[in-house]
Amino acid sequence: MKIVMLGAPGAGKGTQADRIAESYELPHISTGDIFRKNISEGTELGKEAKSYMDKGALVPDELTIRMLLDRVGADDCGRGYILDGFPRTIPQAEALDEELGKIGEKIDYAIDVEVPDEDIINRMSGRRACPKCQAIYHIAYIPPKKDGICDQCGAELIIRDDDKPETVRKRLQVYHEQTQPLIDFYRKKGVLHTVDGTRDADEVFSDVKGILG
Ligand code: AMP
Repeated sequence: MKIVMLGAPGAGKGTQADRIAESYELPHISTGDIFRKNISEGTELGKEAKSYMDKGALVPDELTIRMLLDRVGADDCGRGYILDGFPRTIPQAEALDEELGKIGEKIDYAIDVEVPDEDIINRMSGRRACPKCQAIYHIAYIPPKKDGICDQCGAELIIRDDDKPETVRKRLQVYHEQTQPLIDFYRKKGVLHTVDGTRDADEVFSDVKGILG
């Protein structure tokens, strides 16, 4: 089962991907998390990615595609996976399709989590992230047990540079220009499913389970 999560940054793709990962025992692959891990480890890939991420721009396709194809080739991906934040451009989707085509496979489900821009801006202003284990919280919707502290590893939570308001606006613009066309791309392939992401995460997940069966 190979699943692609679509939707604007902050639509709740990551939360849904986590739940699918848990229920269906599949790896949750987030390109944003892989980049952030590389940044915190100070790798060359991290250094290059950071310059784009801090501006709200996309990391170049070539770098991103190479990194993703390497990840989905790992042993734990044999039964499938959930992609969160990839593909984000048509060339990325085509590269993934081509690679899967070589082994006679394809994306089985593309789930678009739909949320209007105004809601996204509200949500992202409350987002807090753990710089150590990458867990994501929200001061109103998913608060940590202790204010400002990660439940999982005890590190102090931060506002990511790419969650700052001016960056959020830029990321939404990039989303509409470069990522939204993927909705049509997967619709034409007959694998697109849309869920209303404005409701709470449990309700959204109940729709997602209805789709995946
Ligand atoms: P995310 O955590 O998915 O919102 O990603 C954070 C940032 O990482 C994005 O704003 C991009 O700069 C970069 N990024 C993540 N995934 C991709 C991708 N598939 N293509 C290009 N850039 C990406």
